[in-house]
Order: sequence, then C-alpha cells, then structure tokens
Amino acid sequence: MLLSLSNIAKSYQTAEGPIDILRGIELNLAAAESVALTGESGSGKSTLLHLAGGLDRPDGGTIVINGRDIGALDDSGRARYRRSEVGLVFQQFNLIPSLDVAANISFHAKLAGRFDADWERELVEHLGLDRLLTRYPEQLSGGQQQRVAIGRTLAARPPLVLADEPTGNLDEATGDAVLDLMLSLSRTAGSALLLVTHSMRLADKLNRKVFLRGGKIVS
Ligand code: ADP
Ligand code: MG
Repeated sequence: MLLSLSNIAKSYQTAEGPIDILRGIELNLAAAESVALTGESGSGKSTLLHLAGGLDRPDGGTIVINGRDIGALDDSGRARYRRSEVGLVFQQFNLIPSLDVAANISFHAKLAGRFDADWERELVEHLGLDRLLTRYPEQLSGGQQQRVAIGRTLAARPPLVLADEPTGNLDEATGDAVLDLMLSLSRTAGSALLLVTHSMRLADKLNRKVFLRGGKIVS
C-alpha cells in the first residue's frame, strides 16, 4: 500500500465544546491508484486531506505512507514529507503571484530536488501552457491557473496527489477538461490520486469511489 489511514480520529474545539469530525477512518490507496472521496459539505473531507497531507495531526490513529508513519514525524519531518512525497491541489489555485507561469511550475520540483526539464516540457505541452509561460497568475483565467497548479504539483512526480475540489471554482466544461488532464498526467507521473469532489460524474472517472459519512469511510 502507498497510503494507509487506520482508525483516524479528529475533533475540533469550538465555543460549544469539541466536535468529533472523523471517528475511525479506514482508507488504503495503492500506488498509482485514483480514488474519489465524496460526502456532504461539512462531513470532514478537507480535514481528512489535511491529515493525509501532513498539514495537521490526527488525535488518534495512524497515517502510513510508503511504510513510514507520518504521525510520528516532528514539524521538520512533516515539512520534508510535504515537500518530497505529496502534492496538494486546492480549489483556490494558490499560485505565487510574483512568479511567472514557468517559475510557478518548477518551484516545488526544485525545492524537492526533483527538477526534470524533459518531464516539465511534456507537462507544459499537455497542459497547453506553452504560450503562457511568461505570464503572471493574475493574467490567467481560472482554468489556466488550475492547469498551472496541476503542472506545479506533478512536476515533482509526488507518489501521492491530494486534490480538494480542484474544479470547484471552474465552470463545468472547463472543470471536466482540467480533471481529465489531471487524471491522465497523474497516471503518466505514476502518482496515486485522492480527489475530493461533489460530482458523481467526475468521481466515476476514477478507479474507485468512497464516501465519508458520520466520520467514517463507507464504500
Ligand atoms: P468538508 O471538506 O467535507 O466540507 P471540513 O473538513 O472542511 O468538511 O469540515 C468538517 C467540519 O469541521 C465542519 O463542520 C467545519 O465547520 C468544521 N471545522 C473545520 N475546520 C475547523 C476548525 N479549524 N475549527 C473548528 N471547526 C472546524
Ligand atoms: Mg472541504
């Protein structure tokens, strides 16, 4: 298994007291597998992705990636994990405004020490970004910005890509095209994909669908 989440629990403190969001999550992803995660708004999908991405820690349970328990890592270990083994794609594109498209795409791969000019050229070509390389994020449409964000993530060929409603800010046709690119390029990169989406139509394109309900994964 590439990713094993076992008995994951997570609560948040609120003014009204703690609320349990995740109550015993069990989820496995094989290398290069694509899994759609759906569930009602507020069910904890983003919380789960944050935990798997090392952005937050669970209250209980284990998260094992490539045989390593990331719950046992200290802050710098988790920062290293985020840099080298996982790629995150969000609904907000989170591009760096002061860098042009080319620099945005190579930024993470360079940080991770995995810059590969040939692979990056291939990505740029497939994502249709050839003529946009010297533009800045504010000069791009939403669909173009998300294609840059996907290029940036896949440039480092992370074993695991976590995508949280990546097409949520795009119209349906643009979102479909962007998702198709993300699926085919993740496959080429050999990355596993855990994708949060509200759309059953998009979820159907992946290897497998799981649902988050009542703090647990149901298939
Ligand atoms: P989803 O992505 O499925 O819509 P989230 O994981 O974002 O759900 O949120 C799950 C629940 O946890 C929601 O009720 C949300 O309001 C709550 N929540 C999320 N983050 C926090 C936080 N930092 N503090 C308190 N409550 C939170
Ligand atoms: Mg969410």
